[in-house]
Amino acid sequence: MSQIQKLQELNEKIIRCKKCHRLASYIKKVAKEKVRRFSNEKYWGRPLSGFGDINARLLIIGLAPAAHGGNRTGRMFTGDSSGNWVARVLYEYGFATKPTSEKIGDGFSLINTYITASLRCAPPQNKPLKEEIDNCSSYLEEELSILNNVKVIVCLGKIGFDSCCKLLHIKGIKFSHGKSFTHKKWIIISTYHPSKQNTQTGRLTWKQWSGIFSKAKRILDKTK
Ligand code: SF4
Repeated sequence: MSQIQKLQELNEKIIRCKKCHRLASYIKKVAKEKVRRFSNEKYWGRPLSGFGDINARLLIIGLAPAAHGGNRTGRMFTGDSSGNWVARVLYEYGFATKPTSEKIGDGFSLINTYITASLRCAPPQNKPLKEEIDNCSSYLEEELSILNNVKVIVCLGKIGFDSCCKLLHIKGIKFSHGKSFTHKKWIIISTYHPSKQNTQTGRLTWKQWSGIFSKAKRILDKTK
């Protein structure tokens, strides 16, 4: 089976997954109730697969789809404020075709980059249970085994970072913004998550955020 077929098979498995009963019912409920500003839209309301370039050298690991972002649009980091930060910075450094990611079919695509997350279902208040993170970790593992060219892994927030460390058996390194280190064939970079909580409070500034991807780009350019 080719790598593309493996990835397609994995993604089909992910969108059918119902391992976490709490999350499976939560995302359905959100999709049914909606919020007023999106009341005319049909929500995706299912788990989300990762997306991007199968030959990606840059992998981004987020927390989970946003309840009214990815869970609505059907694509991670699409249609919410975190997605705006991700799309803009990726475009700035040549990792995306346009600086906005609003909905499927909008012409936004990733270049040399793949986006995934620790969880594929939006958790209530963005707070997953440990067992839910554990349930979803096998998907991340399978993805990484298919995405053979990944060199730099950017982890968004502590949950993304911890999932990455667990998966790669990295021990004794604590999350902090801007940390980077080499582990086997990968260079891991951690950043605060570009959630509203962080960007609107100034905990994560645009300069700090842009600096993370500037670093990733420099590393990838040097190791071509
Ligand atoms: S979070 Fe992951 S493991 Fe849990 S139901 Fe969603 S896709 Fe399945």
